Amino acid sequence: MPEAQIIDGKAIAESVRDEITRRAATLLEASGVRPGLAVVLVGEDPASQVYVRNKDRAAEACGFHSVKHTLPAETGEADVLSLVESLNNDPDIHGILVQLPLPGHIDESKVLRLIRPEKDVDGFHPVNVGLLTAGERASALVPCTPAGCLVLLKRTLGDTLAGKNAVVVGRSNIVGKPMASLLLQESCTVTIAHSRTQNLPDVVRASDIVIAAVGRPQIIKGDWIGQGATVIDVGINRIPAPERGEGKSRLVGDVAFEEALERAGAITPVPGGVGPMTIAMLMVNTLTAARRLLHLPEEEPLF
Ligand code: NAP
Repeated sequence: MPEAQIIDGKAIAESVRDEITRRAATLLEASGVRPGLAVVLVGEDPASQVYVRNKDRAAEACGFHSVKHTLPAETGEADVLSLVESLNNDPDIHGILVQLPLPGHIDESKVLRLIRPEKDVDGFHPVNVGLLTAGERASALVPCTPAGCLVLLKRTLGDTLAGKNAVVVGRSNIVGKPMASLLLQESCTVTIAHSRTQNLPDVVRASDIVIAAVGRPQIIKGDWIGQGATVIDVGINRIPAPERGEGKSRLVGDVAFEEALERAGAITPVPGGVGPMTIAMLMVNTLTAARRLLHLPEEEPLF
């Protein structure tokens, strides 16, 4: 039995970032404007610090104007809201990203709703959620992780996904639901599965496309995968790896990768699959936001 194609998310993300770098340079030459991204971090969560640093570096590498606001964990809600308001009004900033989770005393939804929808490069504002759900993807800013998954699917299967049976395992607002909306707009027949779904292995087995966004290590077993299916594994889970030495750990996805290799047609690895695409799509959204705020015509979509 031939093994599945391994989808190289790192290489695809690099090609997207190269294209954005090229487009940003053209914009700068034509209008003197650099796309501006502001990332706001409240508190010292180590994982969030890494994400924010990576986003800031990626923006700089694309030639963007990149600003990082790091606030202490005890910052009051009113101060975060007033920072967002000032970024909303800053003409040099086209994209605002508030790194989640916020400390418990700050109302996340209040902060996210204050971001101008046109600058909401995470795509979490209700206006962008509504546009995507209404099938108006071209006017929305689409959440980065599901957008990245769609790019991976199209680079693997070609631009036409119409008629394929797709299952999205997970129904979160940041991954599962927007992913399902995107696949529906591609005219897939979409099933959204979650913790209450019955006969999940059979549901997954019947699918040409499997998006795993659960957050449980290797919950999706190899024999759940239909022969030749395309598997996009969003999950990032750290598990103990005593074989690497005492106290060591490693990252795995939501899919039992080695088993799935024998049945899938193509599959993303963890790490090196969806992860790098999320940051690449943040760059896409920031450039898109900048062009829209400058009333420039839309460029050819990357997904
Ligand atoms: P989440 O908000 O915790 O949602 C998890 C979803 O999985 C929920 O809808 C839940 O169902 C469902 N679920 C839980 N147990 C299940 C089970 N036994 N069977 C079927 N469904 C089950 O997680 P998330 O934020 O969407 O993230 C999911 C994973 O993706 C995490 O590992 C996260 O780290 C990763 N992630 C990666 C990236 C990236 O850039 N690569 C970005 C975002 C997230 P209910 O709704 O019924 O509870």
